[in-house]
Amino acid sequence: MPEDKAPAEQECEFSFNSVCCHSCGACCEIAPDLFTLDEHGECVCLAQSGPRDRVWEAATHCPNDCIELDDEN
Ligand code: SF4
Repeated sequence: MPEDKAPAEQECEFSFNSVCCHSCGACCEIAPDLFTLDEHGECVCLAQSGPRDRVWEAATHCPNDCIELDDEN
């Protein structure tokens, strides 16, 4: 049977450490549905899970390692 749809993105849970975050905005550009900058320019996490590929990309681009995939260990 031909596959005419991309496989569904795998979801994963993640944690966000706001203490180490300095609101550089990198994660907000990569995953704007998961992270955003509020009116004070502070990064806010909007979800506890998301598409694994983009959570991973946001995590790898975070200079302070504030984003951790819960299935990483
Ligand atoms: S990439 Fe990291 S340091 Fe930058 S806003 Fe996102 S969580 Fe904060």
